[in-house]
Amino acid sequence: MALMLNGMGVSRGIALGPVYILHRNQHEIVEQKIDKKNIAKEVKRFKSAHSTAKKQLQKIRSDIPAESPDDISTFIETHLLMLDDAMMSASPIEIIKQNQCNAEWALKLQRDAIVKVFESMDDPYIATRKDDVKHVFNHIMEALISRGKTRAVDASEKWKDRIVIADDLTPADTMIMQHAGVAGFVTEMGGPLSHTAILARSLNIPAIVGLNDARQYLKRGESLVIDGESGLVLAEADELLIDHFHKRQRELRRKTKELGKLNDAKSRAKSGEKITLLANIEVEDDLKRLRKINASGVGLYRTEFLYLRENRVPDEEEHYKTYVRVIRALRGAPLTIRTVDLGADKEIDTVNAGPLAHNPAMGLRGIRLCLHDPSIIVPQLRAILRASAKGPIKIMFPMLTTISELLQAKHLLETTKESMRAKGFKFDEKIPVGGMIEVPAAAISASHFAEHLDFLSIGTNDLIQYTLAIDRIDDQVNYLYDPLNPAVLTLIKMVIDAGIRHKIPVTMCGEMAGNPNYTRVLLGLGLREFSMPPNSILEIKSVLRQTRLSNVRRPALGFLHCTEKDKQATLLAKINS
Ligand code: PEP
Ligand code: MG
Repeated sequence: MALMLNGMGVSRGIALGPVYILHRNQHEIVEQKIDKKNIAKEVKRFKSAHSTAKKQLQKIRSDIPAESPDDISTFIETHLLMLDDAMMSASPIEIIKQNQCNAEWALKLQRDAIVKVFESMDDPYIATRKDDVKHVFNHIMEALISRGKTRAVDASEKWKDRIVIADDLTPADTMIMQHAGVAGFVTEMGGPLSHTAILARSLNIPAIVGLNDARQYLKRGESLVIDGESGLVLAEADELLIDHFHKRQRELRRKTKELGKLNDAKSRAKSGEKITLLANIEVEDDLKRLRKINASGVGLYRTEFLYLRENRVPDEEEHYKTYVRVIRALRGAPLTIRTVDLGADKEIDTVNAGPLAHNPAMGLRGIRLCLHDPSIIVPQLRAILRASAKGPIKIMFPMLTTISELLQAKHLLETTKESMRAKGFKFDEKIPVGGMIEVPAAAISASHFAEHLDFLSIGTNDLIQYTLAIDRIDDQVNYLYDPLNPAVLTLIKMVIDAGIRHKIPVTMCGEMAGNPNYTRVLLGLGLREFSMPPNSILEIKSVLRQTRLSNVRRPALGFLHCTEKDKQATLLAKINS
């Protein structure tokens, strides 16, 4: 009988194949006291293991085929840099000498201490970097224990066409397995930001992460099907199911190949109207993907990473240099920079979003926090203005709730402009200013906001959270998350209509804009600008190129009154048919 499990699908695609369970050697590390006269020998052992780990990583780096995505070499480079850092090369030696202990124990003490520092940080991005630290320490430990004979995973093992089930995978493991033709991955640890997830997406390998105890439930050699989109894992499925998944796999592969042909195709509806497809970016690395798919520009640059990465407010120069690099990379395409949206789930130590942590999504967040303490945003505004002399930049304020907030934010921008003029800085005097409409109050008052802004951008991630009163990071209320809820769609329509009335563009930059199931509904409601993760752009382009706008207007309006789930599903199937 088939066994069905569910994890977190992080890299789309179907994989079918026999299970390969990866059990790493679980060595128990014990403390051994070393005689003073043997300390030099122990230090030598450590140095030799360190050098073996380095050689292994260098070999992996030199084996990376030239056509591989840049992410891969970046990961291996980062690991090599970490390996050279004193925390991994010198500190364990100090511990051996001070504690007069064996090299394994010294390495373990140092690893535990560093991992603890990472664990004390709440940010999910930083938490995944903790995995890097563990991976690199483990490379040295493996070399130490096996006296330099093994590598991350044994390349001679038969990964071809297997689905690997592991506790976690390092970038080096992933690389070796990919070379050997692995079919897919399931890991017990990790989340959507984990390296296995990021690499699997780059390499187009179906992957599921966060499936607790997967190695207990699955047996080596049994047949497995995984769906990297839904997170479904099926063991020992019957022939009928296997046939069904083979068919879906073929369809998906054909679709991906077809989509590749749309790189240079015009972004127009079948009925001829131009639709703007923009990208959401968070870090500079995201720009590499943009070049391939010819996006019309960036509709949302989330700048929080500049703050989160350093865990402090960056200075004007740091902002400026980053924005100039981004605008140059865009080669004339427009860049919409969202001013920093700290607070809620994005906190840094040096900025206090207030003592009431119970409900931070409703607290001092986004523009509220910046107006409360302008020193967070003024260096950013100055840098954005300076960068606007180098290419087309737009400013966008997040989390607006009242007109008074918008006017204060604009005043802050004006005074910043004045002080820069006085100092002779050049900038775009007419830099467009937009607002994110992501609070229901702002959506209802969209017309008033439109009077003071050059463009509106609908942030559905927050708009849905606040309209339906569901915390977007709380798994327990996920079931209520519904972009097609008539209340949500009514607000979206109000914003689009306000833009049309005031003749200003309206973009949508929440995840809903990148979901092909909703493209026709949104086109029918009048949306003409979509901003989304780069990987979604070709799929959305494909849908709109097959859509006549006059055919979707009326069906889209039907959703505004549809309160029943099954009727909603019928309407959706119909509009997408
Ligand atoms: C949104 O809320 O839809 C949005 C795009 O902003 P973020 O996800 O960064 O809050
Ligand atoms: Mg938001």
